[in-house]
This record gives sequence, structure tokens and C-alpha cells, in this order.
Amino acid sequence: MRSEKTVDLMILGAGASGMMAAVQAARAGASVVVADGNEKAGKKLYATGNGRCNLTNLLCTPAAYNGPEDGFTEGILKQFSVEDTIDFFRELGMLIREEQEGRCYPYSGQASSVVHFLEQEMHRLGVRFLPGDRAVASERRQENGIFITELESGRTVRSRTLLIACGGKAGPAFGSTGDGYGLARSFGHTLQPPRPALVGCLSPDPVVKALRGRARAAVVLYENGLEIAREQGEVQFTGMGLSGICVMDLTRFMDAPRPVRRKNRKEQAEADKQYEIGIDFAPEMTAQDCRAFLQKAMDRGKSRGEILSGMLNSHTAEVFSEIWETTDDAVRLVKDFRVPVEATLGWKDAQVSRGGVRREELEPGSLESRLVPGLFFCGEVVDVDGRCGGYNLQWAWSSGTVCGRNAAARAAGQE
Ligand SMILES: Cc1cc2nc3c(=O)[nH]c(=O)nc-3n(C[C@H](O)[C@H](O)[C@H](O)COP(=O)(O)OP(=O)(O)OC[C@H]3O[C@@H](n4cnc5c(N)ncnc54)[C@H](O)[C@@H]3O)c2cc1C
Repeated sequence: MRSEKTVDLMILGAGASGMMAAVQAARAGASVVVADGNEKAGKKLYATGNGRCNLTNLLCTPAAYNGPEDGFTEGILKQFSVEDTIDFFRELGMLIREEQEGRCYPYSGQASSVVHFLEQEMHRLGVRFLPGDRAVASERRQENGIFITELESGRTVRSRTLLIACGGKAGPAFGSTGDGYGLARSFGHTLQPPRPALVGCLSPDPVVKALRGRARAAVVLYENGLEIAREQGEVQFTGMGLSGICVMDLTRFMDAPRPVRRKNRKEQAEADKQYEIGIDFAPEMTAQDCRAFLQKAMDRGKSRGEILSGMLNSHTAEVFSEIWETTDDAVRLVKDFRVPVEATLGWKDAQVSRGGVRREELEPGSLESRLVPGLFFCGEVVDVDGRCGGYNLQWAWSSGTVCGRNAAARAAGQE
């Protein structure tokens, strides 16, 4: 077993937040080591934004994130804002282009640019990267406050501060398999139960399963019959259920997205919350206008499929033509087509983890643990998640910066 001299900051995870933290801590003068289970840093970043990396959003406000309005997320975003993110990458030599709905991408159109410029800056600042070496355990020695982290290779790293930046459980193929949660627990932290979010939904309904293609629509999420969220955008019919950004955004509000297996069906049904998604295929139209339009087509003697094809894509119109009898039915299908949700897809397909290390266990201004001095958390391992559109990476940049700077300051005070 090899052990080396004590460094200021040990970072577990070279994802978006860990790399940003490494740069900021090193700029503040700290000696930094980063370990990642993957051979390459920033593996998930390459896959973000369909390979283009939607790295922030100009419309970013705290309302784009989950949780109570306790100022927690806002306090971190204020310390490193969207403008700061754009300036940061510009100073490194990477320009950012704004697209629709405030979404920002590297000018190159390649996610690899983001990884490249972060890696280059880490290298310039002398950050030491340990690739392919997962952290398996870590502890803080009471007598001197030093953290001892054990890596899979058998190497141990001694550090004055420790940052857990292991991500959550979403997209485990990119290395985030939930280790951060276990490490947090080993230090006495508790978790808001983690759930997959920003993910497609499964529906048992044969009509939904028969639908294919995409539709511009407004979508409403109902929990036990009550509206709890609404979105607008493109819905995708996958053959198993629904997907598309607006549907994925709704999954952030589902409490029990995967059915809990109970002893019997009755107990199961009673325990689970029932979710439905209502689709309005013609949100620009009132139900009254829709009825008038459909009635006119009926009066012209058109077939049921033809009547709906004036508003819906031909495949949807054809599927729906089998199941409506009256004008009321047709209006309901167009304006409030209800899709029962059986479950969401799981961690493998999810873009983000909802839940994580509880906010009340962290100092709101610095993200330092309230239980263990010198221990910090950033990125998705913390109980913060945002909408689709660059908000989750903005949280990674902001929280990584705050942790990097505060860990460097704490380590300097300890020397
Ligand atoms: C397919 C996909 C597309 C996405 N697209 C976007 C997008 O366009 N815009 C956006 O804002 N968000 C997007 N997201 C979400 C965004 O990528 C994440 O929220 C963000 O990467 C989280 O950053 P992080 O640093 O907390 O964790 P991660 O980026 O997940 O990094 C965690 C790192 O920790 C490492 N690690 C885990 N356990 C250990 C251990 N024990 N020891 C050492 N290292 C460990 C992992 O290997 C990983 O490299 C997308 C997510 C996915 C899956």
C-alpha cells in the first residue's frame, strides 16, 4: 500500500463538478488530487446534449430547480452565475453559442471541447489526476483532522479536505453508480431518497403503445387525479410510453416512479401514488374552438380518421379513429388525452438523480458538511436537480466552484 504526503484537497470524481472544483481550488493556491473510476475525466460530459453539451441556460433561475424556496440553490448559483460560467470558458479559449430557450452550447458544437479545456486547465495548474482508480473508503482522523482515502488500486491519499463529487446514480454507464451516496453515509450523512428523473415513462395502455412519432403539445401531470405540474413541448411516443423533454421534466415531480413490489396487488395499488399525464394536442385552441372545428368536418361527412387528421398526425388520427364515437370523445382525445403512467424508465436511461445528500446537513454558503469539518459535496450527489436545458450542468459548475474555493480556504487555514 502506497501513501503519500498530505495534499490540501482530495476530490472523488472527475465529472463536471469535480473538474470545476479542481480548477477553482488550484487557482486559489491549493494542492489538488482528483481520482476517478473511469480511465478518462469527464466521461458523462461527452454524452451530454446529444454529444453537443448543453452546458448552461441564460434563463437560469432558482425556480428551475427542485425543493423548497429556502434560498439554498440560489445562494450557490449567485456565487458562480451563468455569466460567470460563460466568462470562465471564454477565458479558457472556448466560445459559447446561445440557441433556443436560452440553451448554451460550445461554439464548436462538440461536448469534447468542454472536457478538453477543463483538462488542459487542470494540467496547467498542476492538478494531479488519478485515472481508473475508484475511491472505496475514506475517513477523517480525529487527532489531526486529516482525511485518509483508500483507492481501489490500494493507494491511499492523505488530504486536509475532502470533496465528494461522485454524481448520483443516473447514467451508471458513465461511472456514476451511487458510490457518492455510500461514502456520504459512511461519514454519517443521510439522504433524501434518490430517484431517477429526467427520464421517459412507461404506460400499460394499449392505445398509447400503438402510437408512434412526435407531437407538439401541452402536458399535465396528475397525482391521484390532482394536477401537480405542467409543461409544453415535444412529446415522443416510444411504443412503450412517452418521452421527450417536456415529459422528462414532469418525471422530476413523481414520488414513486418505479412500482414498489408489495406482497400482493391490492397492497401495491394502495401504497403507490397513481400518476397520469394529460396531453393537449392543440394547446393554442380552446375546447370550444376544437369542438366547432371537428363538428364542421363531421358535417362535411368526413370519416373519423380524416376528421382528426386535420389536427393530429395521420398515424395518431388513425389510432384514435378506432376509439371515439361522439364529438365529446373526439374533443377529449385532442384536448385531454390521459396516459396512465405505470413507471418511469430506470437509472440506466435517466439523465439526473433526484434526491441525495440532504441540504440541511450542509452549510448553505459553502456546501461544507455540518457533521464533518473539511468534508464538502458538490454536483448531483447533493439533493438538487433541475429541468432539462443546461440547468444541471450549471449546478455542477456553481457548486463545484463554491466547494473548490471553500475547501482551498479551509485547507490554507489548517496548515
Ligand atoms: C445522457 C445524459 C445527457 C445529459 N445532458 C445534459 C445536458 O445537456 N445539460 C445538462 O445540464 N445536464 C445534462 N445531463 C446531466 C449532467 O450531465 C449531470 O447532472 C452532471 O454531469 C453531474 O455532474 P457531477 O459532477 O455531479 O457528476 P458526474 O458528471 O456524473 O461525474 C461523477 C464522476 O464521479 C466518478 N465516480 C463515481 N464514483 C466514484 C468513486 N467511488 N471514486 C472515484 N470516482 C467516482 C464517476 O466515474 C464520474 O466521472 C445529462 C446526463 C446524461 C446521463
